[in-house]
Amino acid sequence: MVRLADPTHVASEDATTPDARKTAGAARRQQRLWYHLGLPVPIPGRMPAPRQSLAGGEGRRVDYRKKFVVEPDSKVDLARVDPKFTGKLSSEADAKAELDAHCERFTKLQYLLYADGTQSLLVVLQGMDASGKDGTVRHVFRDIDPQGITVRSFKVPTPEELAHDFLWRVHAAAPRRGSVAIFNRSHYEDVLVARVHELVPKEVWSKRYGRIVDFEKNLVQSDTHILKFFLHISPEEQLRRFKQRLEDPARQWKISESDYTERDYWDDYVRAYEAALEKTSTERAPWFIIPSDHKWFRDLVVSTIIVDTLEDLHMRLPQPHVNLADIARKYHAADAKGSLG
Ligand code: ATP
Ligand code: MG
Repeated sequence: MVRLADPTHVASEDATTPDARKTAGAARRQQRLWYHLGLPVPIPGRMPAPRQSLAGGEGRRVDYRKKFVVEPDSKVDLARVDPKFTGKLSSEADAKAELDAHCERFTKLQYLLYADGTQSLLVVLQGMDASGKDGTVRHVFRDIDPQGITVRSFKVPTPEELAHDFLWRVHAAAPRRGSVAIFNRSHYEDVLVARVHELVPKEVWSKRYGRIVDFEKNLVQSDTHILKFFLHISPEEQLRRFKQRLEDPARQWKISESDYTERDYWDDYVRAYEAALEKTSTERAPWFIIPSDHKWFRDLVVSTIIVDTLEDLHMRLPQPHVNLADIARKYHAADAKGSLG
């Protein structure tokens, strides 16, 4: 666990006026809480060092956000991204300790997000069938307090949903302040499956990219942080996973023939994904292309990017809104006496 400093090093004796002493005392209490939460303690004038994955091996660090982000207005060619990429790591065992550490930190950061209550996080998961959207939810979010998180899986729209604009059902599922929302599939289906299968004419879906960018900008301006992950798998890996489902009685119920027939449209989906990633990756709502043939690498990268993003917010626990000394004096005086003897 990274601890940058022991808060007891931050002294309030230097503060000369009563007001300054009070402020220094509050800062010290805040830092002590921070320390007990296992988070890097911010020292005035010193920012925590950016956290990066150790996956480069041999001490070389990899910044997954930089490595896998789709730069705004850049060209996307998915054929150039190897879905089997794992950097210098070669097995799940190499990644396990780091994933465990991220899950632990994510729990604490989510607690701060909730306590702070002013901002939220939206995680969008997209990918072909069997790319691992459900698995990512299970593994990366496994330790999060269920009270602070919502998961919404977007399926074929209902008649009620179709009677509204395509963003209606999505907006209603956006995270409330203080919480995390996961979209398992999302409004992007309306420029993916809708485009590939011509569910609406081109003049309709082609205008949706701009509407999506505007919609996400609106969320960002309402203090929602947005991270969008495209789980990139190869067609061979997809077929391998389908076969595993076929052979596993516990998962046979998941199989549908359309999963197989949809493979005929693979290239069309690739083109639709490339267009969506190019047109809607923005600085404040970026897309990341995650090599996902190896599930453990996918989980490691997604968790790293989420934790790094939340740590960059430098969230603080809110100050207590009561006078703690007064409360202790009023209601715990008997305890104090008891403990004294
Ligand atoms: P699983 O991995 O369990 O199969 P899934 O997300 O593929 O999960 P399904 O119920 O198999 O879930 O499929 C949901 C389907 O809903 C997908 O084929 C998806 O393309 C479709 N869908 C989602 N949103 C829309 C939309 N806006 N318009 C049309 N189809 C949509
Ligand atoms: Mg499916």
